[in-house]
Amino acid sequence: MNYSEFQKLKKIPEIGTEMYDIMVKLYPICRSITGDGVRKTLGIISEQVPLEKYEIPTGTEVFDWMVPKEWNIKDAYVKKSNGEKIIDFQKSNLHVLNYSVPVHETVSLSKLKDHLFTLPDQPTLIPYRTSYYHENWGFCLTHNQLLQLEEDEYEVVIDSTLEDGSLSYGEYFIKGESEDEVLLSCYICHPSMCNDSLSGVVLLTFLAKYLKNLSLQYSYRFLFIPETIGAIAWLSRNEQNVTKIKHGLVATCVGDSGILTYKKSRQGNAEIDQTVIDVLKNSGDDYKIMDYEPIGSDERQFCSPGFNLPVGSLLRTGATYFTEYHTSADNTEFVKAKYLADSFSKYFKVILTLEENFGKFYSKNNKEELPEIDSKNDQVFLNLNPKCEPKLDKTGVYRKIGGENQRDNIKTIFWVLNFSDGKHSLRHISSRSGIDFKQIKHAAEFLHEKKLLKRIL
Ligand SMILES: [Zn+2]
Repeated sequence: MNYSEFQKLKKIPEIGTEMYDIMVKLYPICRSITGDGVRKTLGIISEQVPLEKYEIPTGTEVFDWMVPKEWNIKDAYVKKSNGEKIIDFQKSNLHVLNYSVPVHETVSLSKLKDHLFTLPDQPTLIPYRTSYYHENWGFCLTHNQLLQLEEDEYEVVIDSTLEDGSLSYGEYFIKGESEDEVLLSCYICHPSMCNDSLSGVVLLTFLAKYLKNLSLQYSYRFLFIPETIGAIAWLSRNEQNVTKIKHGLVATCVGDSGILTYKKSRQGNAEIDQTVIDVLKNSGDDYKIMDYEPIGSDERQFCSPGFNLPVGSLLRTGATYFTEYHTSADNTEFVKAKYLADSFSKYFKVILTLEENFGKFYSKNNKEELPEIDSKNDQVFLNLNPKCEPKLDKTGVYRKIGGENQRDNIKTIFWVLNFSDGKHSLRHISSRSGIDFKQIKHAAEFLHEKKLLKRIL
């Protein structure tokens, strides 16, 4: 089936509306990396496509990580001494620091402030904050509201549980003629936010729904997983089968008004990269191409050096590039059905192109281009945890490298870990990342000292 035949079957704008309606249904659910919000979400997706659901118990080791305790929440609020509720989880689930431990205390304003998160530069928005691996409790609110808080005794209640349980995820598999697979992955761990997370979830749900009735060459595997830990857990359970994955895309941020952006796979010239770029070129619409960087979503795990799968990410405005990112403004107004529909059509065309080119495409020029190592002058390291990211907080990396620019330092660490595959020198990592060589070298020495890297040259 080609694209115009598909269009005759179903109008793309209608699919946009269907996706939007499911997104609106999913929006109010308080999700996290574990818990009943995820199960409820998988349940709603299952009404569209029958997911295979999995539960991985707390404490299960997945590469360098461990499945955490399961978090659930019923209610949370902050009340003034006169009984007035000033922060209420029932009004927005973003009000609670995601993964907050239970608390019921009466506290002064200054103690309360230690547990409040706001965005001073966006004073009307509620931020989205998490504390998955460090036990804490907290509330998120608008900065304007914070400025109005007066001295008082505040009753804080978080009616949550953090207990042994499991991590839930869903998978949907469409068997094609071939064992070769196309991996399509999205994440289901964000609470009430639309573009980041939910737009990708509904896009893949409907892609699965409409692909399942076609006769296909490739087999298609759809993942509905919590971000990072879910991708790591999935890869650790499916390590034996990942060689079947010939192409892949991570779907997120596909519902905003921005132009389509394609972030290439780590390999950079894999068939999926060529295919998406061709589809965007031929679409007649504006688009943007980004080289791979080890920052972003689950492509970080799929493209970790131990896997290096041909997985890119096709999105509109990337996370962190839109001001609504990780705030209450990433809502059902921000995402529009017509943009979801447009993203759907692009994904669909990518798949039809992969299908058309099955068994005959770029295989000849599809070899990853590797730089030449200068054995006299280059310094080369090997990542000792090449499969997915190592759990950096265990080694105190985050605390140790804190300082003037924590975010840049972490980015440098990720670059060094991701490209220390024995085939890229520090010089190459510096030129590919655009990060100053001295900083790259400093990060490599630090990681070497932490026994995360081994020097091979
Ligand atoms: Zn996010």
